Amino acid sequence: MAMMRTAFVWDESFATGLPEMDGQHRELVNLFNGLGLALFVHGVQDEGPLADAFDRLLRYTESHFAEEEALMRRMALDPRFIASHLAAHTQFVEHLQAIWGQRASLPDLRVTLTDFLTSWMALHILGADQSLARQVRAVEQGRTPAQAFEDEGEPRDAGTRVLTQLVTRLYNALISQNRQLALANQQLEERVAERTRALEEANQALRAMVRTDGLLGIANRAHFDERIEQACSLAWRQERHVGLLMIDLDHFKRYNDWYGHRQGDICLQVVVRAVAGVLKRDTDLLARYGGEELVVILPDTDREGSVAVAERVLQAVRALQLNHADSPVAPYVTVSIGVCSRVPAPADPSRGGSGAAGLIACADEALYRAKGAGRDRSVLAEKAVKFQAVA
Ligand code: GH3
Ligand code: MG
Ligand code: MG
Repeated sequence: MAMMRTAFVWDESFATGLPEMDGQHRELVNLFNGLGLALFVHGVQDEGPLADAFDRLLRYTESHFAEEEALMRRMALDPRFIASHLAAHTQFVEHLQAIWGQRASLPDLRVTLTDFLTSWMALHILGADQSLARQVRAVEQGRTPAQAFEDEGEPRDAGTRVLTQLVTRLYNALISQNRQLALANQQLEERVAERTRALEEANQALRAMVRTDGLLGIANRAHFDERIEQACSLAWRQERHVGLLMIDLDHFKRYNDWYGHRQGDICLQVVVRAVAGVLKRDTDLLARYGGEELVVILPDTDREGSVAVAERVLQAVRALQLNHADSPVAPYVTVSIGVCSRVPAPADPSRGGSGAAGLIACADEALYRAKGAGRDRSVLAEKAVKFQAVA
């Protein structure tokens, strides 16, 4: 069974003879032991009771310090003593908060906290607070505050004095070491957090890169393949339509031959921007299907809606009026569009899969007919025949 660390035991040698101060010191001891108990009973995992005990201790310490400080001022003790006593109080609160802040990364919070509290308690009450009480009494008996302070410098019990000084030095060394450790710990955590952040950003950029077409800045074929499957599966379950536009630039080979490949690239980029501009819904996806062929997925869009989008695309590309001197269709760049919209039934529902392949084939077929019918137009695929009689 785990042993509870020995509780801090009140010793009469702690008594300063100032009843109010002694009462407060006893209460402090109780709160120290309360925190020790909370640590022992609940462990460091259970934050609630521990945080409560810590809070109570910190609040009480602060009010106790405030009263001690008021007493020193009321008695007009020597400013040198007040300054050093105040510094000791501030240091205690800072250090206690630092330990608390580091509780997650300390190897043994219980030991660190109780050792710190007990050693501080003994040192401060036996040292500085006893000196405070002696100075208060001396001033009451008619010594000036400066005399009372300087009396403290006289050797009283040489052995105790040397020991107290030694322990104080050790205590300060420990505090500064702890502080450095806490700082190093915090810096390490910050560096790790920073690296993690950078890595996440790089990952995100990488993911985006893998799904984006380098030339056109829109979704690439891989991303399209993934999204069309998702869109079709969802639409089939919800019995909704999916619209698909297959867009192909007219006589683009001639465009390249006439204006050069570089100009062809720019033309593609400009057309893509125009197409993207007519898409209204966040869920619509424009992708590069390959070469100078684009596709648009239109989730939850029926035949009429899909044709309306296709007409807007045609109009937007015509409106660009990009010169195409060698086109037999028009003196400017045009596109042809195959349109298909349906509730995408899987080819064989018993074998899983989506109706994506059927939808793509349907839009492709319609595109072929748009080309055959003279280009610069959209063609809506005929209604799919659900059951084909086998001859
Ligand atoms: P159609 O009207 O029948 O579609 O005629 P087309 O010339 O557009 O058809 P085809 O498929 O024969 O030619 C497509 C051309 O598109 C061939 C290729 O040079 C060009 N192309 C494909 N991808 C790119 C690209 O990324 N940049 C440039 N500049 N041209 C491309
Ligand atoms: Mg073409
Ligand atoms: Mg083509």
